[in-house]
Order: sequence, then C-alpha cells, then structure tokens
Amino acid sequence: MSGHLLLYSPKTKTQLPVGQILRDALYHVTTASSRAEFESYAPHRIWDCLIILGGSPSLLHQLSAITPNQKMPIIVILEAHNSGCRMQFLRAGADEILQRPITGKALLSRLRSLLRRRRAHQEFTLRADTNRALGFHEAKAVFQSKPKCVVIQIHHDQTHAMLDKFHALKEYSLEITTPAALFLTDQKRPSNLCYILLDIAQNPLIAHNLLLSMRTHDLTRHAAIILASASIETATTLAALDLGADDVLFPTFSGSEIAHRIATQLEHKRVNDHLRAMVQEGFKAAVTDPLTGLYNRRYAMTHLCHQFQRATQGQTDLALFVLDLDFFKRVNDTYGHAAGDQVLRRVAKLLQHVTRASDMVARFGGEEFLVVLPDASAEIAGNIAERVCTMIRRLKIGPNIIEITASIGVSLRYNAAQTHVHLTAQELLKQADRALYRAKAMGRDRVSYFAEQAA
Ligand code: GH3
Ligand code: MG
Ligand code: MG
Repeated sequence: MSGHLLLYSPKTKTQLPVGQILRDALYHVTTASSRAEFESYAPHRIWDCLIILGGSPSLLHQLSAITPNQKMPIIVILEAHNSGCRMQFLRAGADEILQRPITGKALLSRLRSLLRRRRAHQEFTLRADTNRALGFHEAKAVFQSKPKCVVIQIHHDQTHAMLDKFHALKEYSLEITTPAALFLTDQKRPSNLCYILLDIAQNPLIAHNLLLSMRTHDLTRHAAIILASASIETATTLAALDLGADDVLFPTFSGSEIAHRIATQLEHKRVNDHLRAMVQEGFKAAVTDPLTGLYNRRYAMTHLCHQFQRATQGQTDLALFVLDLDFFKRVNDTYGHAAGDQVLRRVAKLLQHVTRASDMVARFGGEEFLVVLPDASAEIAGNIAERVCTMIRRLKIGPNIIEITASIGVSLRYNAAQTHVHLTAQELLKQADRALYRAKAMGRDRVSYFAEQAA
C-alpha cells in the first residue's frame, strides 16, 4: 500500500529512523523539520497521513490549522517519559499515539490501519458526492440511543485486566458475550455499537479467525472492532490490525483515553454508515422511477436480458406483458397532470399487488408498464394479464373518481421443443409491443397475445 506521507521531524537525530522505515516500506515521504518548512509543503498536496515526531499538543493544533481541510490521519510518536499528555494529543486531533520504544512493525501496522480507513472514507465520500451532484437525497439521519460496547470474551471464565475499565465507562452500556453467541442472533444490532475483542493474545488463532468472520459476516462487516490486550503489544495484536481491527486498547490507557478511543471509532462508523447509506440510496435512485417507485426502463431491460438468458439455458417458461393506459392524454387534459400522476401511482400499486414476488414490474415509459413473469406458462401469464385488465377497469381513483382502462400485449418465450425459434429478449419485447398495438386497434381495454397474431 503506497501513500504520500508528511513527516514532521524537528530533530535531525532520532533514535528511530522513522523516515527510513517508511521509505523502505515504499511510502513517499516528505520531511519538514520546522514549522516554516511544514507551511511551505503541507498546503500544496493531499497527504495520506501526517506523522509527528515529538512536539506538543499545541504544535499539533498549529500544524492542523495550516491544513484545515486535509482531514488526514495523524500519528504522534512520543518519547517514553512524555506519557502524561496522551489525552491532550488525542483531543488535539491525533488518531494514534505511539511511545518509544516502538518497532517498525508496530508503526507500519498502525499506519496501514489508518490508511485503510482513510481510503474507505475517501471512496465513500467520492461516491456520495457524485450522488449529491446527481440530485439524490441525503440518507435520513437515524435516531441514536446510548452507545453500546459489546465485549467478546474468548475465554468466558477468565477475569481480565481490562474488564473493570469497561465496567467503569459510564458513557456506554455494556454487554458481555462469547464468540459462539455473537452470530446466533439474526437481529440487526443498533448502529452506534462497537465490538471489543478481549485478550486476543491468549488464543491468537481463535481471535484472528473471529476477526476475519466478523469482517465478512453481514451483521458485523461494517462494525467498529476494537481489540483489548492484557499485555503489551504482541505480534498477535499487530497482525489483528492488518486483519481489519480498528484500534487496540492496552491496560496502561486511562479510562478517559479508552472512552475517547471508543468515541472516535463510533464517530468514524457513524460518518461511514451515513455515506454508505447515501451511496445505496443513489443506487436505488438510479434504477427506480421516482413517481411510482417501480423499476425504471434501464433496470428493466437488464433484468429482462438476465431472465431471458436464464430461461433459455434452463429451457423454462418466460412471459412478459406490456401495458399501456388507454386515452391517458384525456385524463391529463380533463383532470390535470397531478391527477394523471395519481392514476399512474395507483396502477403501479395494483401491478405490484397482483404479481408474484419473482415477477418484475417496471415503468417503461410515460403511461406504459412492463411486467416480466419468469416460469409463467401461457395460461398463468394470460390469467395475470386478464386480471390486471379487469382490475384497472374497476378502479375509481381520487376525489374525481377517475375511471381508466388499459390495453395489454402478452408474449411468451416458448420452450425450444415447441417452436424451434430462437428469440432474443428484444424480439420478445417487440412481439409484446405488436400484440399491444393489436389490442389498441381492436378497441382497447383488452389483452392481446402475440401467439394469436401468428396463428
Ligand atoms: P392511447 O390509448 O393510444 O395510448 O392514448 P394515450 O392518450 O394514452 O396516448 P398518448 O401517447 O397520446 O398520450 C400519452 C400521455 O401520457 C401524454 C402524456 O402527457 C402522458 N404522460 C406521460 N408521462 C406522464 C406522467 O409522468 N404524468 C402524467 N400525468 N402524464 C404523463
Ligand atoms: Mg396510452
Ligand atoms: Mg403510450
């Protein structure tokens, strides 16, 4: 994973050759050794991470003020004796604080974890921006109850050095569970919840497998997952960061640092959940018709082609019908466009109600609908079409009690054994259109079948 890193290193001589470690790991590193240098480099590009060697919380404030819009993750590397100001650094915006002595491995796993989070965030932001530009709406904000920590204890009977610290967190409600119980429930958990994996060093294999399962399972894929270690940093904790854990807590951390770190992860999750929901809204908006909520033409054509392929391969039935409202222009002319819209919505609802779950209903054009019926024989398709035609005739819509009728053209993909003709999805659609035209020509308010025409 490469990236552009900005290293603020006021001292020339350091015990840990941070710049070299980062360059050896193939990162592009730009070093600033003074505020003036920082000021001349920092604003001119987008950085993936800022790493500060030493300094003070107020320096961190000053550097962040020079790059107010970057929102890059910040790692601070402190001297061992400087542990008193960890909280001030975190409050000043540091994402991670490492204290000497640290190893290159420890630095690089933290960095990878932060960069992964940043990339995911950038990707979602980009897609959400596109959605905004296309005019899709913001996802609705969800009601947030008291945040919750679900502590997963790998050994249920153990007493853990960190458990008391979690019990003391007043801001969060606490639930203790086991790996086996975690996926037992199908219930969707609230969104402001984080998982804490307790003491992974005790049984690294179970812990790593659990982490991988959580990152692939639907219930926990996007969850905030924090590790809690009973001892100092081990190879297991570092590997877990690379497997997708978001943060690690150690017993040396104060209660307020633990609370701050959990809050930070929950905030990242909240922002990402919001962006992801926006992207999903965008996908939905891209394939649906805003007036009726039905699939739009673009989606319908792709779906039809898939269904057609499936039916051809499996030699199964496939039917479709095209429905066009009769003299719809008159409805608009007589009752106004809004009343016309109301009619379209009612017809859409009726079609959804009458069809089976496996069928697809789409608004294909202004007052034209397409219904695709997989595994429907001529008899089933005919029944559904006739029922729709009758029900539309019986509709009485709105305060004006508008009455309408529809014409329907049905076409069928017969089994190869019956016809020997190899149709395409487009031809099937064309046949339905011709049948529809015939229904109109025969006086409207009726169902016409393509087979009739061929006979
Ligand atoms: P026919 O029986 O031959 O189908 O006659 P028709 O009047 O239904 O057909 P025509 O194609 O002449 O008119 C279709 C009308 O549908 C014209 C257009 O204003 C109306 N229409 C298309 N989209 C919408 C819409 O979104 N809302 C409303 N209210 N009307 C629409
Ligand atoms: Mg019409
Ligand atoms: Mg029409």
